[in-house]
Amino acid sequence: MGKTNKKAYILQCEYCGKKYKSLGTKNRKYCSHDCYIRDRLWREEDAVKNVKMILKREKPKYIQKWLKNLLLSKV
Ligand SMILES: [Zn+2]
Repeated sequence: MGKTNKKAYILQCEYCGKKYKSLGTKNRKYCSHDCYIRDRLWREEDAVKNVKMILKREKPKYIQKWLKNLLLSKV
């Protein structure tokens, strides 16, 4: 028997919404280290960006998962 092939999972990045392939694990949250950093540090900036678009009656390109959870969670 040869080496075991790792299963590839198609996951969606929690930060940018991009679909990416993850080998061997489906527990990844981000497509790149960049997105991981941004999701941790840029939340406020992202929220401001989204609010500005909403005020212009424009739909934000992508709503970060944390923001979506916040908006859709029960009070
Ligand atoms: Zn990403």
